[in-house]
Amino acid sequence: MSDTPKTDFIREIIAGDLASGKHQTTVTRFPPEPNGYLHLGHARAICLNFGIAQENAAGGARCHLRFDDTNPEKEEAEYVESIKEDVRWLGFDWGEHLYFASDYFEFFYDCAVALIDKGLAYVDEQTPEQIRENRGNLTVPGTPSPWRDRPVDENRELFARMRAGGFKDGEVVLRAKIDMASPNMLMRDPVIYRVMHQAHHNTGDRWCIYPMYDFAHPLEDAKEHVTHSLCTLEFEIHRPFYEWTIENCPVPAQPRQIEFSRLNFTYTVMSKRKLLTLVNEGHVAGWDDPRLPTLSGARRRGYPPEAIRELCRKTGITKFKGVTDVALLEHEVRNWLNREAPRRMAVLDPVKLVLVNYEGEEEVEVVNNPEKPEEGSRGVVLTRELWIERDDFMEDPPRKFFRLGPDRHVRLRGGYIVKCVGFDKDPDGRVREVRCEYLPGTIGEKPPEGVKCKAAIHWVSASHGSEAEVRLYDRLFTAEDPDSAEDGFVSVLNPDSLEVVRAWVEPSLAGVEPEWRCQFERIGYFVADRRDHVAGERPVFNRTVALRDSWGGKKK
Ligand code: ATP
Ligand code: MG
Repeated sequence: MSDTPKTDFIREIIAGDLASGKHQTTVTRFPPEPNGYLHLGHARAICLNFGIAQENAAGGARCHLRFDDTNPEKEEAEYVESIKEDVRWLGFDWGEHLYFASDYFEFFYDCAVALIDKGLAYVDEQTPEQIRENRGNLTVPGTPSPWRDRPVDENRELFARMRAGGFKDGEVVLRAKIDMASPNMLMRDPVIYRVMHQAHHNTGDRWCIYPMYDFAHPLEDAKEHVTHSLCTLEFEIHRPFYEWTIENCPVPAQPRQIEFSRLNFTYTVMSKRKLLTLVNEGHVAGWDDPRLPTLSGARRRGYPPEAIRELCRKTGITKFKGVTDVALLEHEVRNWLNREAPRRMAVLDPVKLVLVNYEGEEEVEVVNNPEKPEEGSRGVVLTRELWIERDDFMEDPPRKFFRLGPDRHVRLRGGYIVKCVGFDKDPDGRVREVRCEYLPGTIGEKPPEGVKCKAAIHWVSASHGSEAEVRLYDRLFTAEDPDSAEDGFVSVLNPDSLEVVRAWVEPSLAGVEPEWRCQFERIGYFVADRRDHVAGERPVFNRTVALRDSWGGKKK
């Protein structure tokens, strides 16, 4: 993992602008609309904008967190808080630079008046349907509105009346006067203000007219002296109007819009609207359900923010549309956890193992992280009765099976070599108990002459361990591209995306803090659930990712 950013066409433009003296410093922004939780796709925009500011911090660069909350219909305070928390969690900091676009309503209004004064905006009394019909299409030019050539004074007065509440919703709009025959439909006199008698979470009832996104966004950027306004490719076609607005309004700076491609992953959906459907219809347990591609879901799943940043760094910034294999993200998660996560023992499908020739108890030393010898080892109490994994015993094992079977030897991790001397079954044929003899003097020693012991298995003391709830998460969808499913993305939800098991975990695990991550030896990476795990009272662990990618195989 490296903190050195790969360069890309946007970073090159920025470096060029600094070198040529076009800009003395660089200002970027991350401008979410607070109408949902952030998702993994947003991570690309966050890493890009905040990353550029970090890399140029010596030259005074900064990145603003700006809530694009100009639409009174959709925003909620809960989303504002979650977005702040997620950006911080990802590892970024906006410092003093937290802004709300709704604080600029007066400025947007002044800009609209300036356009009217220049003869570049008019109040249109056509109905929304007429406006749509008269816009024409790709082959037919638009038809000018009968109100297009209203005198400036009349426009001024009507616009003031719009603000004062003199019109009903949809009765009139303010339109930019550009070109009704433009090949770019978005330049055919776009609507820039509409009447909406609706309270806004920030400004209350002060306004009953609201600016359209395409008009407000460039003005927000200019107001904040943003130098480079970085957005996703779907805004490319909006760029001419962005530039028109900057050119014709009385703005204090000239931001430049540059587009890059979105980050999307296989096996998931990413648009906020679809995520909201999954939450509202109860397919998941909330916005931070560990199966969702939201940042708060990834956090609760146990994904380290470092791994998400690394994925963003490796996939880079381009103009190519593409879908990233989610296995790449899982690979980064595994990579980080393999290096950083301590190892612990937990048994997810327990069967009793009794050491028939063992009495009392003793502490054995188990290595914490073979990747980090400096983290040493911990003492784990070994007792006569243990839990082991059901599939570490076979009644009739093949030759290549190196774990337990009648008369076979195996090592208990950190402890003795044991030999299976018998087992019992329930009436239904399931193994209930495995009996072993331990070989004294074999802790940390090679197997004695004539003993074949090639594997070590994990275990949990039946009297010292704790019961825990373990949630085994898998991918939320069975289809690689849920968006293209014939019956909609909800029809390809994975019915097995969550399995809850009662497990046994070694004593130290019951006391860890929420969000503590570790590897359950030989099983996978797990995290103490940040909502439900209560240290010392109720251990709850989420599977972050299995030890190895089993999906490639499963699919075939
Ligand atoms: P969605 O379409 O997923 O609902 P959005 O684009 O409406 O998301 P915004 O809140 O408007 O979400 O996004 C804030 C910023 O994040 C924008 O600059 C947007 O371009 C960027 N962004 C959104 N989705 C992605 C993505 N998948 N990859 C990269 N950047 C994204
Ligand atoms: Mg949006």
